[in-house]
Amino acid sequence: MRVFSTRGGSEVTLSQAISLGLAPDGGLYMPPVMPAHVGPWGDELRTRAVTLLRPFFADEPLAADLDTIIQEAFTFDAPTRWIAEDTGLLELFHGPTAAFKDFGARFLAACLSRLQQPGRVTTVLVATSGDTGAAVASAFHRRAGFRVIILYPDGRVSPRQAHQLGAFGDNVTALRVNGTFDDCQRLVKAAFSDRALSAQHALASANSISLGRLLPQMAYYAHASLSAVTRGQGAPSFVIPTGNLGNAFACLLAKECGLPIDRVVLATNANRVLADFVATGRYEPKSSIATLANAMDVGAPSNVERLRHRFPDVAKVVSADWVDDETIRATIKHSSEIICPHTACGVEVLRRVRAAGAKGTWIVAATAHPAKFDSIVEPLIGRPVPVPPALAEILSRPAHATPIEPTLEALAAQLS
Ligand SMILES: *Cc1c(COP(=O)(O)O)cnc(C)c1O
Repeated sequence: MRVFSTRGGSEVTLSQAISLGLAPDGGLYMPPVMPAHVGPWGDELRTRAVTLLRPFFADEPLAADLDTIIQEAFTFDAPTRWIAEDTGLLELFHGPTAAFKDFGARFLAACLSRLQQPGRVTTVLVATSGDTGAAVASAFHRRAGFRVIILYPDGRVSPRQAHQLGAFGDNVTALRVNGTFDDCQRLVKAAFSDRALSAQHALASANSISLGRLLPQMAYYAHASLSAVTRGQGAPSFVIPTGNLGNAFACLLAKECGLPIDRVVLATNANRVLADFVATGRYEPKSSIATLANAMDVGAPSNVERLRHRFPDVAKVVSADWVDDETIRATIKHSSEIICPHTACGVEVLRRVRAAGAKGTWIVAATAHPAKFDSIVEPLIGRPVPVPPALAEILSRPAHATPIEPTLEALAAQLS
């Protein structure tokens, strides 16, 4: 499939876009508007993923491998747990690093390792506010032809997130940066713009603007919506905890592909740029502020560029609301389920949407396992959160991260 850049530069194939990440004109790659899919859909996540993604990979070098890529990447399920007759939690945290980013990162890694030229070593450079780094590290861990360098803001990720980031070793290096997430992102951008550095180390990006992460995320919305309909419920609406808007944009694309999806509602933390944008039509990026839902601490969501390009009348396709830390705490404390701080934003926004009169079936995307945020959740609910086996395994390994100052020189020294 030919994909195009939001900034109008030349079209490339989907495989090229997956290799490149960002378009050379600085834009984000977009697939053309898809004809509605007709199925057959089967009843499993993986079958549905292949059916949904096959047209995107038509005429691509990866087409013949799509089945294997999905089998390799989606080694865990995305079940919807019904907590009331008309309310579900879409559990996206059953992967190795216990957050939804495992789906996209593992799909991207499976694609890139097939597109990689033999004998080359690519350096995947990634800035993380918490969950991306671990998902990318896990997806590329011990993969021949790749090394991974993760930058995270020292002291601003949860203790378990920090442990996870430093626990891989081998071809994965964790750098704890004396600064904020914005500093980490700035360093990564500076490294990519430094031609000599970028060429010398064959730098590749794995951040959430990559189509290789965005497209596979449609699969669990297809799975959840079709499963709700099979249960005899109408097309469900989704509330999606949102930071960079990658997860929610995938839901909008799934809806565009004809999946039975009703409303899409964004739930952010106190970084309320998206809620203000949807309410006023004015997009005013800000610097991010630290909240309990740290993976959503984003002041300038990168996928807004895709949203505005595809849906100029944004308020027609999404609504949005934001939740402060105090309400996140209260929601975790009073919820019937044990939920992470990000999922709590979704649960609270659903409560408000329902209070405002919304009817029908609603599903909240549960984006991370609460055990990743035990230091926040346990004091609120007054009991320990059971740790899933994959997370327990990572936490049992020793961890190491190298401290660096937030300068390109310091990063360059770590690259060589
Ligand atoms: C990354 C992340 C989000 C935000 O997802 P976006 O695609 O950036 O909107 C929400 N919750 C958790 C747990 C995350 O890791």
